[in-house]
Amino acid sequence: MNNTIALITGASRGIGAATAKMLASPNVLIIVNYLTNQQAANNVVDEIVARGGRASALQADVSNEHGIKVLFDYIDQLDGTFTQLVNNAGTLFTQSSIENMTAERINKVLTTNVTGYFLCCREAVKRMSTKHGGNGGAIVNVSSAAARLGAPHEYIDYAASKGAIDTLTTGLSLEVADAGIRVNSVRPGLIYTDIHAQGGEPNRVDRLSPNLPMKRGGQVDEIAHAICWLLSEKASYCTGSHLDLAGGR
Ligand code: NAP
Repeated sequence: MNNTIALITGASRGIGAATAKMLASPNVLIIVNYLTNQQAANNVVDEIVARGGRASALQADVSNEHGIKVLFDYIDQLDGTFTQLVNNAGTLFTQSSIENMTAERINKVLTTNVTGYFLCCREAVKRMSTKHGGNGGAIVNVSSAAARLGAPHEYIDYAASKGAIDTLTTGLSLEVADAGIRVNSVRPGLIYTDIHAQGGEPNRVDRLSPNLPMKRGGQVDEIAHAICWLLSEKASYCTGSHLDLAGGR
């Protein structure tokens, strides 16, 4: 299909930025969503445009409904068909055991990592579903190996939020399977991005990766390739899947 629109939340850095750049083509307008880092988002857009693609940076906080409205109001006034959503924006806080977790922290993790994903899925389905006159589409939710492993003494709140995303992916894939929409998730393991510094340990990947069967951390492009495949027609019979990209663990 020509002239389509793809939304990637949290695409200014890390896995989202790599996915935006890899997905870019003259036929798709990539919405590069970010929270605060406008310069990084603009750099992603510039790189896409320099390579002949089309992209726009858009600030919006996916942890609240107003932010979701900003995103989809913007998409609605564009020329093109919205067919691809990557729910990627995620957050976590400093490594901690449960004894020190506040309600405020837990709720912030859940509103960003769970409510934000739900609401973007809701708006995507309204626009993509063939039952509402749409052309179908594909959704990829970025979950985590933490959903399986639990992240004890680090961030079980974050791990639990990703468990919720796996269930969202399973349930929604079944709800919209006959409406032209495929819904899948990826579960990255230890990937080199800034998120580990946010958790208080910038070198976390190097500390833990020797314990992995593959003995190394992952690169953002290794996740972006999988996301782009799941979004593509090459994955046309794939829905409700959780693709583990975690070096064998
Ligand atoms: P990252 O490098 O820290 O980048 C996070 C991105 O999300 C940034 O673009 C940030 O925008 C954006 N963001 C954060 N909160 C947001 C909000 N409320 N609204 C809109 N955008 C927001 O993270 P990453 O490692 O690439 O992680 C991407 C996804 O992969 C997350 O869902 C994460 O849980 C998942 N994941 C990562 C790993 C890993 O090892 N890295 C492993 C498993 C799963 P700003 O630049 O404006 O701050």
